[in-house]
Amino acid sequence: MRSTEFSVRTRQEEEFVDITEEVRRALRSLKADNGICHVFVPHATAAVAINENADPNIGRDILWALDKAVPKHAGYRHDRIDNNAAAHIKASIIGPSESVPVREGDIVLGTWQDIFLCDFDGPRERRIIVTFVGETE
Ligand code: ZN
Repeated sequence: MRSTEFSVRTRQEEEFVDITEEVRRALRSLKADNGICHVFVPHATAAVAINENADPNIGRDILWALDKAVPKHAGYRHDRIDNNAAAHIKASIIGPSESVPVREGDIVLGTWQDIFLCDFDGPRERRIIVTFVGETE
């Protein structure tokens, strides 16, 4: 097992940032060959998602749908502490990690899939930990 990390600075309060190329670079630095890549954000108000890359509206639509399901300041107890309960709930719905197969050093994604960091309480510097389990070069 090998692990590395990189960070991404988000620009908006809520944002999907395509991190596919950074994950590919991380795998090359780990000399990954065949196995599984685990992508994890160590943050309680951020998440990792795999979805469509071609139409940037998909990320906006997901944010819009999450906002409908989890409106801000809807009486959450945590808002009394640091006013970002909706961000925590959205991060829990999407989840902090994804696992992707790796073949011959590269992640295997569908034609329309990319890996996104989802920030629900930005803008901030977000860490992404990439762990590779499998055969190395
Ligand atoms: Zn909080």
